[in-house]
Amino acid sequence: MNQLFLVVILSFCSLAHGRSAFFDTFPILQAEHPTLRMLAQEVELNEIDSPRFKSFIKDMFTTMKRNSGVGLAAPQINFSKKIFVMGGFLTGVKKRVMINPEVEFIGEPDKISREACLSAHEHGPQRVPRYSKVYVSYYDENGQFFEQEFSGYTAIVIQHEYDHLLGKLVIDYDESLYPWIEADNYVEIPYPL
Ligand SMILES: [Zn+2]
Repeated sequence: MNQLFLVVILSFCSLAHGRSAFFDTFPILQAEHPTLRMLAQEVELNEIDSPRFKSFIKDMFTTMKRNSGVGLAAPQINFSKKIFVMGGFLTGVKKRVMINPEVEFIGEPDKISREACLSAHEHGPQRVPRYSKVYVSYYDENGQFFEQEFSGYTAIVIQHEYDHLLGKLVIDYDESLYPWIEADNYVEIPYPL
């Protein structure tokens, strides 16, 4: 088969599936896209076991990594389901998949976090009020159920990704509505989410 023909075939496959032909990555939607504003739907638990679902999760991690991200939610790649992935080597956040997460916020927002969103590229990093601790129930990629408390960097990543499942973006926050947060409670998230 000549190479040009192969490229044409691969490009066609790429268009058909809305993803890159040469890498298993998805294009990341930007702020104006309506999917980013939708409430994501629950994942049916029997879907988790399918090879298609496992391959989707793997491709989410690849997409996150190729964009140097520390978190990625399914709506960002035009799939409005309650799924996000996070973490990876060098990020300081453990690799995790959270499916159908429910987040309970503990206390009051007491930190201002500076976060860059992969879906709000042109807006640059935004300052967002966040809670120090969250309590999360979720299923992992093997369908196992967890209830855990998170704090620090991981808690902030979870809050950012959970917002994506609710159709909320970092550009929606107004820092001035949280005057009780002290200036020394500012944190910087070094990787986009
Ligand atoms: Zn984001």
